[in-house]
Amino acid sequence: MGETAQSVWNNCLKFIKDNIQPQAYKTWFEPIAAVKLQENALSIQVPSKFFYEWLEEHYVKILKVALTKELGEDAKLVYVIKMENTYGNKQPFTEQIPSSNRGAVKAQDVDIPLENKSPELKNPFIIPGIRNVKIESQLNPNYNFENFLEGDSNRLARNAGIAVANKPGGTSFNPLLVFGGVGLGKTHLAHAIGVDIKDKYPEKTVLYISAEKFTQQYIDAVKKNNRNDFIHFYQIIDVLIIDDVQFLSGKSGTQDVFFHIFNHLHQNGKQVVLTSDKAPVDMQDIEQRLLSRFKWGLSAELQSPDFETRVSILKNKLYRDGVEMPDEIIDYVAKHIKTNVRELEGAIISLIAQSSFNKKEITLGLAKDIVEKFVKNTKREVSIDYIQKVVSDYFQMDVETLQSKTRKRHIVQARQLAMFFAKKFTKASLASIGSQIGKRDHATVLHACKTVDNLSSTDKQFRKYVEDLSKKLSL
Ligand code: ADP
Ligand code: MG
Repeated sequence: MGETAQSVWNNCLKFIKDNIQPQAYKTWFEPIAAVKLQENALSIQVPSKFFYEWLEEHYVKILKVALTKELGEDAKLVYVIKMENTYGNKQPFTEQIPSSNRGAVKAQDVDIPLENKSPELKNPFIIPGIRNVKIESQLNPNYNFENFLEGDSNRLARNAGIAVANKPGGTSFNPLLVFGGVGLGKTHLAHAIGVDIKDKYPEKTVLYISAEKFTQQYIDAVKKNNRNDFIHFYQIIDVLIIDDVQFLSGKSGTQDVFFHIFNHLHQNGKQVVLTSDKAPVDMQDIEQRLLSRFKWGLSAELQSPDFETRVSILKNKLYRDGVEMPDEIIDYVAKHIKTNVRELEGAIISLIAQSSFNKKEITLGLAKDIVEKFVKNTKREVSIDYIQKVVSDYFQMDVETLQSKTRKRHIVQARQLAMFFAKKFTKASLASIGSQIGKRDHATVLHACKTVDNLSSTDKQFRKYVEDLSKKLSL
């Protein structure tokens, strides 16, 4: 018996129907029509792009299981979207979406259909009146791989960056998302990737832009009725680097347009590099469909550099600036400034400046003065260890008890409070908080934060705990 698209799909439907809520089945699966079966690829037609996105986000797993049962490990699913009439086209039309090679079942998006009235590119970087056809990369050549020193804290991110630069769009690191706290080198690394690509592939169009500037351009484009030109411009980039994507939080219009640009680039094998001050799981007010795209590639964290790396960064900087400094002083600075690289550099620059302005020799005494000022001025971040200690002391238990697996209510509450304050007072990710407070996962920490929020608005005694602890911790 030859299988047809219809028979394969009917079998899939039977399986899906048994495994999801009847209402969901009715809403999301009944409207689908099977349209084509070619080897191991089944094409299904869905009523809209939104519909497709919803399926991708909520039902891709079950679709994959069902289809693999029918067509084997190499099964592929191809969505055909009956386009909605949203972009001024008079007639609805159907578009065939090729199946991608990412995983067995993975759908792709359609491009946004553009009105083809003005085929010439409008470059949002062009200042009106100035003619400028070439797209400037906006890259800073001073930020390169050579002067981005490697250490345990950045090895994964740095090497992933190098891999991407060697084969833009050709690795599984697409998008490459680099995340980490302030001053840890995200911007530097992002530029380094772009600079290296420009060097190796001069014909490629590389663009570095901050998410903030991107947002501003988008707003301008909407104001001037240029939304399509804006999208069109970004869709022809080969390597798009967007810095600080956490800036898109809560900006749904910009997120939406970025989503379409992202899909187009990704689908066409173009490279996307993103940086963020948070891990994807910790990003708030970013739409789920975007977050899920961020997770397609690799998320690599930049952590605070260890002592050895701090010393090499300082030595490298001094060497490049042609300044000599005794090892004793370099060690002293590296030992006392741990927060981030920007502060480390700041301290050494003031040290050099002080000594040359005042014609003083750089001595350990001078270094101590300057470092002290730096450490004082930068609000110190409390550590998770310290938070656990304060919370345990407050409830008169020891830290082991707080971290233990017990379900005794007062201990659970103490633990949840520790998690809550760790989230509030440190920049650690949910996952890292969980692992440090009794080896829990990020969902447990998230739940703890919500519980504390709820309890402090409903339970007077509990609110007192939160207030007392806040005071102790913010001293
Ligand atoms: P972020 O974007 O994460 O806030 P930046 O990329 O602006 O951080 O880095 C802050 C400063 O620290 C920059 O001057 C950068 O050159 C320097 N820096 C960060 N990491 C390194 C590193 N691994 N090697 C050398 N310099 C670094
Ligand atoms: Mg930055």
